[in-house]
Amino acid sequence: MFEFDDHLTLFEAPLNEARSKPVIDKARTLSSKPLTHVVISHHHFDHSGGLRVAVAEGLTVITHKDNEAFFKDLVARKHTVVPDELAKNPKPLKLELVDDQLTLKDKSMEVQLYHLLDNPREGTNLFAYVPRDRILVQADLYDASWQQHLWGANVLQNIERRKLRVDKDVPVHGVIEPYDQMVKTIKAKPTIPAN
Ligand SMILES: [Zn+2]
Ligand SMILES: [Zn+2]
Repeated sequence: MFEFDDHLTLFEAPLNEARSKPVIDKARTLSSKPLTHVVISHHHFDHSGGLRVAVAEGLTVITHKDNEAFFKDLVARKHTVVPDELAKNPKPLKLELVDDQLTLKDKSMEVQLYHLLDNPREGTNLFAYVPRDRILVQADLYDASWQQHLWGANVLQNIERRKLRVDKDVPVHGVIEPYDQMVKTIKAKPTIPAN
């Protein structure tokens, strides 16, 4: 969660309602500031499955522009067998779409969102950079426990291309690490062709 001057912004709406609702509830106990936004890094369910409950909770969803049609469809679908929060409490989808980059900024916090470019795995991934703390927040791009880093070189290129001075990697999956360590691990376990 990112704490701005007068509001809070969550990073990811994970898995499903059963997971995302407690995350949202917990976030709201951590500060008296209102939780108003959620950044969804990409469309995979472990990052976006809580979309409907986030909408039901009134959060504005920030995501890559190419997710627009898919997210609109997910929110518009009926959910009648076991009605979810959104079925019980219909709300409009508020979307803030990112193309190449978007800076979220007020007087106490700045978070830069970047579209991950030329990635062999997916086309709509957004990663975040917090300049004050030189933190990279990334989803599915690197995890210290992986045996291979198939798109590791691409991730490092993206950080270089954006001229970011990262000190620390905060992954959605995996452990927080110094960026030096991340670079070392990627270079030590390069891509091995599958055949
Ligand atoms: Zn993913
Ligand atoms: Zn994931």
